[in-house]
Amino acid sequence: MQFSKFGEKFNRYSGITRLMDDLNEGLRTPGAIMLGGGNPAAIPEMLNYFHQATTEMLNNGELVSALGNYDGPQGKDTFLTALATLLRETYGWDISEKNISLTNGSQSAFFYLFNLLAGQQSDGSHKKILLPLAPEYIGYSDAGIDDDIFVSYRPDIELLDNRMFKYHVDFEQLQVDDAIAAICVSRPTNPTGNVLTDTEIVKLDQLAQDKGIPLIIDNAYGTPFPNIIFEEVTPFWNSNTILCMSLSKLGLPGIRCGIVIANEEITQALTNINGIISLAPGGFGPAIAKHMIDSGDLLRLSTTVIKPFYQERAEFAVALLQSAIHDPRFKIHKPEGAIFLWLWFDQLPISTMELYKRLKARGVLIVPGDHFFFGQKEDWQHAHQCLRMNYVQDQTQMRAGIAIIAEEVNKAYTHELTK
Ligand code: PLP
Repeated sequence: MQFSKFGEKFNRYSGITRLMDDLNEGLRTPGAIMLGGGNPAAIPEMLNYFHQATTEMLNNGELVSALGNYDGPQGKDTFLTALATLLRETYGWDISEKNISLTNGSQSAFFYLFNLLAGQQSDGSHKKILLPLAPEYIGYSDAGIDDDIFVSYRPDIELLDNRMFKYHVDFEQLQVDDAIAAICVSRPTNPTGNVLTDTEIVKLDQLAQDKGIPLIIDNAYGTPFPNIIFEEVTPFWNSNTILCMSLSKLGLPGIRCGIVIANEEITQALTNINGIISLAPGGFGPAIAKHMIDSGDLLRLSTTVIKPFYQERAEFAVALLQSAIHDPRFKIHKPEGAIFLWLWFDQLPISTMELYKRLKARGVLIVPGDHFFFGQKEDWQHAHQCLRMNYVQDQTQMRAGIAIIAEEVNKAYTHELTK
């Protein structure tokens, strides 16, 4: 069969598709230890809450109404209004429902936004999305209808105590020329758990404003919900910011609800795209989220249940890793948020792609670091020395998975010659 150019590109077996395949296969394979994909944890208190909330919604008719009607292409009106009010009251942001649009998962929001702004322009020029700090979210990498829509930069690495490190944006290197359509960062970052500092965000905002291009902040793990962020940082939005949020990491990835907070021009563009591509975004997620806002549960549960749950899991996993792997060349990115640990095996004689294969053969799924460095001009050895590990599994699984990782890493350091 002959596919179009679009067909050829989107028919590729991309990194993100492999990741989702691993996730799906692993979930159905008895004994597999799932430290790979981004499934949020099944937090018992949240599961009970969703059970109870949907039962209430079934009884009062909200559920059937959400399932039985199309919403408008911007997304469920009542939720847009409730969320605008919540954000205005919580942060003092100058927004209304005209600044919010919904998509079927924030993954599709990124597809829309990147292609709205980057790629071939009507004057024939080609524009790109600037990722100021790679490693960055793998799910962006294949989202361009045109090829080559990203340019990314290596970070500065700050070495910390206790075999930890932290990435920073290397502002000396960044070049924001006329070929840049927007700047984009995830905060907290998937894969590293890094949270860009307030100073970094203010500088990026200034760079974007100076160039008259938007700053896209991917807030899938951030505040005020799901609030998987362990650092005190200031939530950021102004009319030049496109803030993308999601209900997935609250524990609802199956309802596919992404939320974009932006100026009215961008909101209108996303609304129009929704109409063409999906008629309307799904209504079930926004109905639950509206229910959670009305009851005051959305922010309360994010702060009192979700955040402490992940923080405790992250600390547990760090302690296990540090006691299982003593080699001083092994370091962990300081976990500041999101649901992953980013492990750096400096001078590892094998690539983490090879390590991924060896671990997969032993039933442990992780994600090799290579996938997260797209948009770079030159290959970087560091990219092949890192891996992403999800830390949300229960203690038994974490112990078993980390023991196997430690064995394979120690074996590689001891027995293989550096290539
Ligand atoms: N952004 C980041 C940083 C993510 O980690 C994810 C999913 O893992 C997404 C966006 C997309 O999430 P969803 O489409 O479920 O909203």
